[in-house]
Amino acid sequence: MNFFSSDYKHAADEMVAEQIYARNIRDPQILEAFRQIPRQLFVDVSQKKLAYSDQPLPIGFGQTISQPYVVAYMIDAMQIDKSAWVLEVGTGSGYETAILARLAGNVFTVERISELSLRAQEVIAQIGLSNIEFRIGDGCLGWQEKAPFSHIVVTAASPEIPTALIDQLALGGKLLIPLGSAGGGQELTLIEKTPLGLKSQKILPVRFVPLIWNSASEKHSSKK
Ligand code: SAM
Repeated sequence: MNFFSSDYKHAADEMVAEQIYARNIRDPQILEAFRQIPRQLFVDVSQKKLAYSDQPLPIGFGQTISQPYVVAYMIDAMQIDKSAWVLEVGTGSGYETAILARLAGNVFTVERISELSLRAQEVIAQIGLSNIEFRIGDGCLGWQEKAPFSHIVVTAASPEIPTALIDQLALGGKLLIPLGSAGGGQELTLIEKTPLGLKSQKILPVRFVPLIWNSASEKHSSKK
């Protein structure tokens, strides 16, 4: 189905050329996914004119849809292909979920705010992506029944990595998380699970909304 009026199609092509390709993200499959997923369906009605602009936008409940370039950067860094079995913590609008689903085999996404998850589920059903499973709950606990994951992406910032996520990452898998405090500096950090332990690399300074820890996930937290 075609979700694009010619205006939106033009805006999506321009976003890919000026915000993503021009900043050195060149994987043709990633670029095509950003051209194909109709971002205007994922933003708040009041923000439609800004849907393809170079910034995060409010989606209600104090949360945001991430800046397109940051989403592209994260997905590029994780090197996802059709064999990927991905856990996303923080569904938000579902936009990143939809891009991930275009590139990966399966995506499991957890969101603590039920209204956001339900809205994302509606939009994604409308687009017709079927390789996504949604859960409403605490993503710090991961999704044990579906583990191990080849890739885990956390879309909210935390000073620490929840232990459950490290436990549920497959050997050889990649975990991406903005590490740092809500008000202070944050670094998007790529962690690889190797036979010798965790390898960690800071790859981009970022600013994300905070990952919310509840008491169950706090008990099992670990410092990184
Ligand atoms: N990438 C998303 C998009 O494109 O719309 C944006 C995600 S938004 C920056 C971060 C999301 O993480 C918010 O929707 C927030 O409610 C969610 N979140 C925060 N803590 C969480 C937790 N413990 N479990 C699940 N979701 C959480």
